[in-house]
Amino acid sequence: MPAKIYPFPTIEDQEVIRTAVKVFLTTQTGVARNRMLRTIRAVLDHYRISRFGFSDYIVETTRMPGLCTVKARSFVSGQTCPWCGEVLYGLRSKVRILNIQERRNYDLVTYGCRCGKVFAKYEYPE
Ligand SMILES: [Zn+2]
Repeated sequence: MPAKIYPFPTIEDQEVIRTAVKVFLTTQTGVARNRMLRTIRAVLDHYRISRFGFSDYIVETTRMPGLCTVKARSFVSGQTCPWCGEVLYGLRSKVRILNIQERRNYDLVTYGCRCGKVFAKYEYPE
């Protein structure tokens, strides 16, 4: 009998993704970033889906095997994380860029903050 394919990740597998994102955002190491991307991709590949939406972000496979992107669902404006006040920019910022969608007149940037929140912002070039 073929293995049963569920239409979307189980609660446990959703938690695996959320934890991987959270660990990266709190530790902000390159190792954790790689692990996050590969973990998410492995779960998506397991269910043979190309995207899955959480309440605050969507994870999507990329064309490159083994990788994926994280895109925020909520938008912010201003220079700081609305939840914890961390500044978005500068060398000492604990906010990381998770994804950049380039458009003609602006970039839609997904940020992930050390507090665990993921949000997007429209960035306009100088
Ligand atoms: Zn924050």
